[in-house]
Amino acid sequence: MNFLIVGAGFAGSVCARELAEAGHQILIVDRRDHIAGNAFDVEDEHGILIHQYGPHIFHTNSERIFNYLSKYTEWYQYEHRVRGIVDGKEYPFPINRDTLNQLYDLDLNEDQAAEYFEKVREPRESVKTSEDVVLNSVGRDLYEKFFLNYTKKQWGLDPSQLKAGVAARIPTRTNTDDRYFTDAFQAMPLHGYTVMFKNLLNHPNITIQLSTEFKDVLSEDQSFDHIVYTGPIDAFYDFKFGQLPYRSLRFEHEHLENQESFQSVGTVNYPNDYDFTRITEFKHLTGQTHTSTSIVREYPTSEGDPYYPIPRDENETLFKRYRALADSEENVTFVGRLAEYRYYNMDQVVGAALNAVDKILERK
Ligand code: FAD
Ligand code: UDP
Repeated sequence: MNFLIVGAGFAGSVCARELAEAGHQILIVDRRDHIAGNAFDVEDEHGILIHQYGPHIFHTNSERIFNYLSKYTEWYQYEHRVRGIVDGKEYPFPINRDTLNQLYDLDLNEDQAAEYFEKVREPRESVKTSEDVVLNSVGRDLYEKFFLNYTKKQWGLDPSQLKAGVAARIPTRTNTDDRYFTDAFQAMPLHGYTVMFKNLLNHPNITIQLSTEFKDVLSEDQSFDHIVYTGPIDAFYDFKFGQLPYRSLRFEHEHLENQESFQSVGTVNYPNDYDFTRITEFKHLTGQTHTSTSIVREYPTSEGDPYYPIPRDENETLFKRYRALADSEENVTFVGRLAEYRYYNMDQVVGAALNAVDKILERK
């Protein structure tokens, strides 16, 4: 069969490979001039490997997904660490025992840290919003220092207007583990994401067409038995029920000549200062050695390319109207962060794509 796949990010590329392996012919298109979607990385003009669309750290608890990607890349072992700046000082983030001890000049052990959280938390009967999540676990002072303003900046919304799942991505710890993620598998593609995607898409049944808009392909004289669509679902339907809100970012990349290192860890968050949310220094993530360094600042915006679905009930309601249309399509499959309007990490997109292919192959 002939497949058209729209989008060469994780969702589209995994589907392309699996369908090609099953003997089908694939045309994969992307409106951008590169593969890898938002995970795209490239050497900047100074030879430093940077992530064009912000820091991407691979982590998963799924051995199946880790093994799947391991067919297409070797790995560089990397555990991400983040610090948050409060009143000009740098603290471990997510909040752990060291954060408490340093912030409040205490000397708590693990049990005492648990007691501390128990004392300051504002228990919530039902935890529905991101405000509930944080107040319920660490109380108001830590909420205001680390979460409130970051969230307002990142989403343009108060934490009380966002579903619990957003802040629930961030754990609270009574130990001194300062890793951002605790997943069983944490690693970066040894030669970068783009090289991994090249390997993924390197199959005789796959044709790649970049700088190509989906609707232009449809208007050409080509026919496809099935479409896999990984772009925004509202755009597929010409916004007929109105626009689904997506949050965007402006990335400000900077190269620092003759400066070997900029900051102590991969990412530093600025919850209360500046218009950007965080600064990432890529050499920490990739292990690259170089006499100078490159960083990126992320400025959240409402205009621009869609990067984040915005998890709130009213958006979910609108998404479900689109999904009802999508569910009735016989020959189109919707998969990925924008098409499913889900705040997916990369590993979850790989899982969703593998499941989507299973369903397509069962049905056909
Ligand atoms: P995308 O990568 O967005 O791919 C969709 C592609 O479709 C795009 O390339 C787009 O150009 C193309 N497209 C859309 N519409 C059309 C059209 N009409 N015609 C042609 N092409 C079209 N995840 C992690 O696991 N760890 C991280 O550390 C992490 N950090 C992140 C940081 C940032 C700033 C962002 C924005 C995301 C981060 N993610 C992270 C999430 C990760 O980027 C996504 O889960 C993943 O890349 C989504 O893959 P996808 O294929 O669904 O979508
Ligand atoms: N968050 C916060 N302060 C921080 C880091 C995160 O309030 O210092 C909140 C914020 O709402 C953010 C969410 O937790 O959007 C999830 O953070 P994560 O780092 O997972 O976001 P991503 O990497 O997906 O942008």
